[in-house]
Amino acid sequence: MQDEALKVLKQYFGYDGFRKGQDEIISNLLAGRDTVGIMPTGGGKSICYQIPALLLPGTTLVISPLISLMKDQVDALADVGIAATFINSSLSFNEGRNRLAAAASGKYKLVYIAPERLELPDFLQALQRMDVSLVAVDEAHCISQWGHDFRPSYRKIEAMLAHFPKRPVVAALTATATPRVTADICRLLQIPQNQVIATGFARDNLFFQVIRGQNPDAFLTDYLRKNRDQPGIIYAATRKDVDRLCSQLAKAGFSAGKYHAGLSEKERVDNQERFIYDDVSVLVATNAFGMGINKSNVRFVIHYSLPRNIEAYYQEAGRAGRDGEKSDCILLFSPQDIRLQKFFIDQSDMDEALKKEEYHKLDQMIGYCHTESCLQGYILRYFGEEDPEPCHHCGNCLDTREKSDVTVAAQKVLSCVKRMRERYGKLMVAKVLAGASDQKILSFRLDRLPTYGLMKDQTQKQIADFIDFLTGEQYLELRGGAYPTLALATRAVAVLKGEERVFKKGAVHAVQLEVHSE
Ligand code: ADP
Repeated sequence: MQDEALKVLKQYFGYDGFRKGQDEIISNLLAGRDTVGIMPTGGGKSICYQIPALLLPGTTLVISPLISLMKDQVDALADVGIAATFINSSLSFNEGRNRLAAAASGKYKLVYIAPERLELPDFLQALQRMDVSLVAVDEAHCISQWGHDFRPSYRKIEAMLAHFPKRPVVAALTATATPRVTADICRLLQIPQNQVIATGFARDNLFFQVIRGQNPDAFLTDYLRKNRDQPGIIYAATRKDVDRLCSQLAKAGFSAGKYHAGLSEKERVDNQERFIYDDVSVLVATNAFGMGINKSNVRFVIHYSLPRNIEAYYQEAGRAGRDGEKSDCILLFSPQDIRLQKFFIDQSDMDEALKKEEYHKLDQMIGYCHTESCLQGYILRYFGEEDPEPCHHCGNCLDTREKSDVTVAAQKVLSCVKRMRERYGKLMVAKVLAGASDQKILSFRLDRLPTYGLMKDQTQKQIADFIDFLTGEQYLELRGGAYPTLALATRAVAVLKGEERVFKKGAVHAVQLEVHSE
């Protein structure tokens, strides 16, 4: 079987060998086992279902939310002589019906559909007439409400599978799935947990960096000057920011276009095309841009403000370097951006449980901005990888400032959090440690704690920054919604017991504190 797959790979796609994970996923599917495939962006997920589609009898149904990509995919398949089509809302009613009839008669090896089709009872009935041997669910994380891009119509896939006289083999593919989302995909598509094939999320050609405490506009102009004419994307949080940045850059002589949902359809398509075909080098955009964009030579993705969570960040940043060349993923962090993201969550129509989850994800995103450990490693851990190797080339791995031992200061903070019974947020903990005596402290009798005033040589701001650092390094964790409380993370226990030492880079106020207080 494997030889045949290799032959098809060479014959239709011109490649000599499979990439990591591809052969395993393909042979699993060919052996009739449902499979969840997790591979990083650019890892080559399409081939994982396209090759089985050619080797299995009948038709493969591909469910994809990316309407703009379907045509490209189908055209690319047609170019190499593979019969494929797509059915989505871009077609007229008649055209859709004709294609469906042709699909039922077995004309195509692959049929791409948008998940919204599954909401139509007539369409589901028509599907039953097709001889479907494989269903490929692309962007499978969209099925989970714990993913960052939940699509309710993905939930119809389950019913669709049940409609077939014989259940087809199912391939679920994604590049962004936390363990919780993966478990959801398995549960909702009834795929056994032991049929998950993951090649890891690491993208070795991406150079992650967080810029803190610098003027973002000055950083941008400086960076663009040094990387003139390189294609790149700048993500901003609001349309207003996009408009302002774009005209600012154009005025400064850079070739920049913009993209956000407030532009007309024509403007959006025009600006996107100009970027894709390298007429403008930089595209300033909100997160409305990017789904389904396949531009391989993006050399940098700069986030002008804080993204809402790590999944969204990794997906947006991951649009850099799809061609495998070195590319930068830079996040410009200003603490005041946190408020905007909280506002977005607060204003959304999510229910309380989901809002709480979103706040938690935002806190983990903020942790990324504060960590001094490997940035790629932080992301991989978020996606469930255990003890990832440091990448050796992110901003933190390359930060050669000397490390100081801040264990004693860390112990003070951690024991104060414990004494406060993990019931208060960062500011209250900082106040107690600084020995502040405002009304709240006095009325809760926090001034009687043994840790009260333990860091009184520090300002509250300095202590709060140090708490951010400890949170970023995952000694502390934030619990709850919009106003989270600080709690000890598992790692904290070893520090309190004196079994693990804490190090921090650069000039640290907390270090000076040790000099004063010991
Ligand atoms: P993904 O959907 O995982 O982001 P794609 O399926 O679009 O990735 O594949 C990314 C690129 O890698 C495509 O240009 C594809 O042709 C190429 N590719 C896929 N498999 C192989 C392979 N085995 N050898 C070489 N190139 C491959």
